[in-house]
Amino acid sequence: MNVLFTNVRILDGTGAQPYAGDVLIQGNRIVRIGRGTRSLPAAGVTVIDGAGATLMPGMCEAHTHFGWTNSKTLDAIQKMPHEEHTLWAAQVAKLYLDYGWTSCVGAATPKPRLDCVIRNAIESGQIPGPRYLAASQEITVTGSLGDDMLPHLPFPEMSFGCVVDGPEGMRKAVRMFLKYGVDQIKLNLSGDNLVPGADARTNWMSDEEVAIAARETKVRGKRLASHARSSESVKQSLRHGVEVIYHASFADDEALDMLEAQKDKVFVAPGLSVIIRLLNEGEVVGIDNKTARNMGYELELEAAVKSMKAMLKRGIRVLPGGDYGFAWAPHGENAKDLEYFVKYLGMTPMEALVSATRWGGQMMMRGKELGEIREGWLADLLLVDGDPLSNITVLQDKHKLLAIMKDGEFSKMPEIRSQRSRFVA
Ligand SMILES: [Zn+2]
Repeated sequence: MNVLFTNVRILDGTGAQPYAGDVLIQGNRIVRIGRGTRSLPAAGVTVIDGAGATLMPGMCEAHTHFGWTNSKTLDAIQKMPHEEHTLWAAQVAKLYLDYGWTSCVGAATPKPRLDCVIRNAIESGQIPGPRYLAASQEITVTGSLGDDMLPHLPFPEMSFGCVVDGPEGMRKAVRMFLKYGVDQIKLNLSGDNLVPGADARTNWMSDEEVAIAARETKVRGKRLASHARSSESVKQSLRHGVEVIYHASFADDEALDMLEAQKDKVFVAPGLSVIIRLLNEGEVVGIDNKTARNMGYELELEAAVKSMKAMLKRGIRVLPGGDYGFAWAPHGENAKDLEYFVKYLGMTPMEALVSATRWGGQMMMRGKELGEIREGWLADLLLVDGDPLSNITVLQDKHKLLAIMKDGEFSKMPEIRSQRSRFVA
């Protein structure tokens, strides 16, 4: 289908100011962009009259867990049986697309093959969903985040993380996930305030373990991601060539220097939702503000804001998304992150949008064809009823997304068509 978006305000994802224009899609590509309304010929194509709506690139969620079940606890995620879990994750994948996330980076899956199965089903057209990079389970060490085994029930299936100890255990786990076809291996390097006795500022994985994981992952040309809240875990990530760093809340000056030195390779996604929600709205899961502060979340938010501001100043790419899929921050609310970026990190709405689009394409490893409205690039587009630059929260409302296009195909068809336009007879 060839589609012409006409009479739209083009916000192209590069940071340039929006302009009125037309955009022609052929197959799965943006083939022509016209400046000025009705600047491209409309013959022989499906014409979508945007009536002044904003056309922007589809967004990228940098830290996605299709397998999280909107539950209150980590072990509840794991208790869902495989069959239900697969159906659940398929539904969640569709939901992300419905909310304008045309790309998602898998940040860990609770069952070993779940992410790969969902990605493959999306790619083969079996189910609707965003472009997706499939993740491994969170690989962790005994006692750290993701090890939910009970002393008297030593079954690995009880844990949403894959628990390994020592280089050989790590080698085997990484090879297994690569065999299943993951795009990204996830390592839990630091602790996490959600887990008792594993403070976010502590480091759990040894250099030997991380080194083996890095070696095996790179042999297969795949990418490493880390759960790294502590400063040391950020440095450990960078020492071993981890390119996707999640959280990085407590990054000190040395960690920031190391990040800056690798800024063309590295992506950071702070995943602010866990911290902000538990601190301010944790009552939904029985965590009041005092408890959240005792868990260290006030301290972590302060540190994360400081670290992210410093990163942005140094030109390090900080992306939205992260850890939606809990009771305190259910799937679908992910665009709240853009609001948090503006409110807490001091980004302009334009900067937040560039991070969700241009940087998103780069994080999807398709930085030369995804994440911007450019001739020859992939047609992942949102037609937005409103102006995200004057109100970034407009992207939180799926009803404001008039049309959603992924790879040249509408996952949501616009209602405003040329024949019904306010402007065309
Ligand atoms: Zn996560």
